[in-house]
Amino acid sequence: MERPPVVVIVGHIDHGKSTLLDYIRQTKVTETEIGGITQRVSAYEVKHQEKTITFLDTPGHEAFSQLRARGAKIADLAIVVISAEEGVKAQTLEALTAVTTAGFPYLIAINKIDRPNANVERTKQGLVENNILVEGYGGTIPSLPISAKTGAGVSELLELILLMAEFAELTTEPNAPATGFVLEATRCPKVGVIATLIIKNGRLQTGDFLIVGDIIGRIKRLQNFRGETVAKLEASSPAVVLGLPEMPAPGVPFMSAPDKNTAETLSQSSSEAIVKFPTDKITAGMAFPIILKADNLGSLEALEKEVAKLSTEIVTISIVHRGIGQITENDVKLGAGTPPAVIVGFNIQADRGAIESAEKYAVVIKTFNIIYHLSEWLAEEVLRRAPVVEVEETIGEIRVLKIFSHEKNRQIIGASVNQGYATDRQRVRITRRGAPLGEGEILELKQQKISVKRVETGNQFGALVESKIAIAPGDTLLIFTRGKR
Ligand code: GDP
Repeated sequence: MERPPVVVIVGHIDHGKSTLLDYIRQTKVTETEIGGITQRVSAYEVKHQEKTITFLDTPGHEAFSQLRARGAKIADLAIVVISAEEGVKAQTLEALTAVTTAGFPYLIAINKIDRPNANVERTKQGLVENNILVEGYGGTIPSLPISAKTGAGVSELLELILLMAEFAELTTEPNAPATGFVLEATRCPKVGVIATLIIKNGRLQTGDFLIVGDIIGRIKRLQNFRGETVAKLEASSPAVVLGLPEMPAPGVPFMSAPDKNTAETLSQSSSEAIVKFPTDKITAGMAFPIILKADNLGSLEALEKEVAKLSTEIVTISIVHRGIGQITENDVKLGAGTPPAVIVGFNIQADRGAIESAEKYAVVIKTFNIIYHLSEWLAEEVLRRAPVVEVEETIGEIRVLKIFSHEKNRQIIGASVNQGYATDRQRVRITRRGAPLGEGEILELKQQKISVKRVETGNQFGALVESKIAIAPGDTLLIFTRGKR
């Protein structure tokens, strides 16, 4: 079944992303504000020509990270906004790179055409100079002139989005459990964790279990983006849910399940490399955005080379903005987002405006006069930001031959080691015909009535296993270790 497009708006700062989002929200959404839990949800739906479009309403870096979130696509289509006054700027190019690298269909909205200095043709020329070939300039990338302020061209923009969505053939399985992504989460002292999700497939219902990484919770209350309590929501809709016991990180995928057992099984089967974010504030994560400022072009280039060496597989430093001269309030604003950027200055200082606004935007400013100190500090930050990843290693596989006894959560089994080895005091994953059923722990191992610590491949043994799952002959138990990386 067809589903609506989920659209993200990116572009250089001050080129009109928020104004466009606000214009569309104000003219196209009839706000009912019936006292829901959230005042403003970071995504909204509009109706145009009887069809729905979902907009992700996220400023700055968050929009970028929604393009990049672990290779997965939170959005389906992108709008790259360019001011017709200023033309192509650094972040325009960054946005275009992010959009094209992720393989998004996109269109270019040339904004602020109501301004006297607006020049649409010059803007297109600027795109062509950067190898972005728009329609009419030897290419196929759709572009259209708009004014986010007066609304000129916005209706055409929505029409074009619907047309592009048709080409993209976006589908959903309406009766499947829901899958999608976390957009944001907050903790409210009264009701607990409030998570905003975007559904990308299936259906989400009150009472469903939600699996986000290794967090499992039951949906106590489900709301649409207007704050209205609803029983279910379909694909491409933003969803506000209550009931998660912990804060999920933005960008993380979720799944729903109709009951707890299925949820636990799904959670375990997807737990091979669980990413846990160590703080609630989500300052840690995969992306480490920084802004580089230096006294001259030579040092800036040297810095960029240094910084490029410091990214790791787990934490990627991305230079979201670079420039020469003092650190100003504008740099701080550029750095606002989730996670906020760190502004690194070399041989320069931050001005008063920057220092005063840094706290408000949770942006950290660090200045250095020695490159070596700068890289040392950044390298430490990279380490500190690395999320705690739980890794599992299977050390052995055993086959259950017989069940000797079963009391409550404890059972004594007879088994043989197929591969690797078995040890006592070790976690096991119980699988039946390849499907994971749950986990347990081997408490004790015995061979010929004598307790042993370890049994090697090919040998039979008895084991006391603790698990809620009733183990049966023929089951395979995978013995694994779990460690933090
Ligand atoms: P963002 O940083 O890309 O989200 O940019 P904003 O939406 O905050 O816009 C930056 C400034 O440009 C604001 O003062 C807006 O009022 C103004 N602006 C945005 N779009 C237009 C437009 O189409 N026409 C005019 N005249 N001003 C605009």
